[in-house]
Amino acid sequence: MSPEPFSSSPVQILHNGVVCTGGAEPEVLNGNAVAWSGDRIVAVGPEAELNERFPGAARLDARGGMVLPGLINLHHHLYSAFARGLAPATPPRDFGQVLDGLWWRLDRALSPETVRLSALLGAADCIRWGCTTLFDHHASPTCIRGSLSTIAEALEEAGLSAVLCYEISDRNGHHEALAGLDENLEFIAGHQDHPSLRGTVGLHASFTVSDETLNAMAERRPEGCGCHVHVAEDRLDLQVSELAFGAAPVERLQRWGLLDERALLVHGIHLTAADRAVVADSCSVIVHCPESNANNGVGRLDVERVAAEGCTVALGTDGMSSAMLRSLRAAVLGQRAGRRDPAAGFAACPQLMTTNSTIARRFLDEPLLGEIEPGAPADLCVVDSPPPTPISADNLFGHLVYGASEAPVRHTIARGRVLLEDFRHMTLDPLAIAEEARRAAPGLWERFHAIDPARCDWLPT
Ligand SMILES: [Zn+2]
Repeated sequence: MSPEPFSSSPVQILHNGVVCTGGAEPEVLNGNAVAWSGDRIVAVGPEAELNERFPGAARLDARGGMVLPGLINLHHHLYSAFARGLAPATPPRDFGQVLDGLWWRLDRALSPETVRLSALLGAADCIRWGCTTLFDHHASPTCIRGSLSTIAEALEEAGLSAVLCYEISDRNGHHEALAGLDENLEFIAGHQDHPSLRGTVGLHASFTVSDETLNAMAERRPEGCGCHVHVAEDRLDLQVSELAFGAAPVERLQRWGLLDERALLVHGIHLTAADRAVVADSCSVIVHCPESNANNGVGRLDVERVAAEGCTVALGTDGMSSAMLRSLRAAVLGQRAGRRDPAAGFAACPQLMTTNSTIARRFLDEPLLGEIEPGAPADLCVVDSPPPTPISADNLFGHLVYGASEAPVRHTIARGRVLLEDFRHMTLDPLAIAEEARRAAPGLWERFHAIDPARCDWLPT
């Protein structure tokens, strides 16, 4: 028996879909509907039953599509939006040049206005792909102060939930690292009780963060606020960390007390077996970003191996896109390509999305986030992929990887607000945002090209 609605808001019913409940023991419910009121799901059950129970409820037709919990992205970079079509004068030869030739120039060229536009562009993409909760890792060194609030405002306008952080780095000087720390702490303090936005502390990667900065962070970081950091994305992280600080990244993070169940260690490709044992023991989370790893040519995380070793593995996009189901498909294909095994991927990859829910619940204090059941936040998406063959909990993952990951999203609902209805955005105007962004891009790119990549002298030659 489902509880009665928790609020007096009108009830809406999403019907005519295949409801995939998510959660630790996902169910696939054919012929079921989902009802919500305010920002909560109030009932899941046979359509006729819900119609009888909530007469007069507004109805939204899923048109046979797959109804999933709103997707969750554990690692995004909204600020990367203006990189599309941008060509550094010299093509990068290695990961160091990807950083100092592209990303560390782009982030320094950002202005408050282009931070806002980046966030809106990324938010529209998230909605388009059914993502309702994202963890963003932001950098805009020439406008650090207030940048997280700018992003938060854009996400509130869009209707998305998020955990935000500023990526602290000494790469442009210690004063900027401290300004990044201040920005994180201010945002965390201002959003402790916010219903859909929270902060955590971000670090770029341990190899661009000095011991002095880690000391300041450890002293000032509120207990239990977590940390979001790139780790072992490329061998460069380990090499520079050893050279500059005499310790491996994981060793440094551990020394400063940053490894716990709210530590999001993004990539983790080049962690040693000893590192992975520390990560597993500390319950820290490795966030896998397969499309980004392929794009940067940095190597490939063996998800099945690290999961078998006891590491918790989650999934992100690293700014490559906002399409989580495509990232999931890339994770499976990467396992198969890497292992040269056509059966690989189905052992550990189904767990990735469940882990994303588990982690997001911790940060947002929402014990049922990522699950379709009464009491959970009304975060839903309908993928326009009516199953062409029988579907059940047993073969759901195959339907996701080979069908849903390639299909557009028809409806996106977040905290009860319909953000996308029949492919049409309801909270943002993506065309107008893109037009505004195209007007802002030439100025941003001009600033980008005026920044000398050689100024980023942090990396060894
Ligand atoms: Zn990243």
